[in-house]
Amino acid sequence: MSSNDTLDTMECGIGVREILSGDGGVKRRLVVHCEPQREAIYVATCTVCARCVGIRPPTEGLPGAVICRSSDADGPASVEDQGMRTPVRAVMERDVACVTADVPVDALVALLVQRGASAAAVVDEDGHPIGIVSWSDCLRIPAGSAEAGAGRTAADVMNPLVFSVMETTELSRAIGMMSDGGFHQVPVVMGDGTVGGMLSTRGVVRWMARLQQATAP
Ligand code: SF4
Repeated sequence: MSSNDTLDTMECGIGVREILSGDGGVKRRLVVHCEPQREAIYVATCTVCARCVGIRPPTEGLPGAVICRSSDADGPASVEDQGMRTPVRAVMERDVACVTADVPVDALVALLVQRGASAAAVVDEDGHPIGIVSWSDCLRIPAGSAEAGAGRTAADVMNPLVFSVMETTELSRAIGMMSDGGFHQVPVVMGDGTVGGMLSTRGVVRWMARLQQATAP
């Protein structure tokens, strides 16, 4: 477990539990070592926990973590702008383009054009986020290839997910995490762990502008 004093959060490590059955099948479940409850539980449980701020899934060679509030108390008292306590769901873009990792890049580009979106979430077969892919990722031409699309799939061009945020997380916390990691957009997950929206810096700026207009004397 580690803590972040600035955001009043801590991280509980994620492990992978693999269960081999008699027919040779392997079931893979993500298990979090919950420090407050002092037990190992399935990560899916965290999505309905009031302390859950976000989830950073494991990647190759790097362990994942659930980011949780350090206590049951409300957000940090130093937040002057009460508007920043607004939950992420009030600000996120709800119309989010999602693709699975095997979608060809040209189909992915067509989807982004059709929806006027700047990025799509890459999800597993259950709708859980595993990556994010933007316009510029799609258009990057790999060395030795003549075209940007050239038989590639979303898996080849996506950025593996570093973390997602819960729809209930305070905007101030989400922005802090995005700022620390240098991310312009992150997927927002719902109570069942599936993608329900996208939070972007552009969306936050628009929301703040609208808020200012609405509260101007
Ligand atoms: S989100 Fe809740 S259940 Fe999950 S690790 Fe944190 S405190 Fe435990």
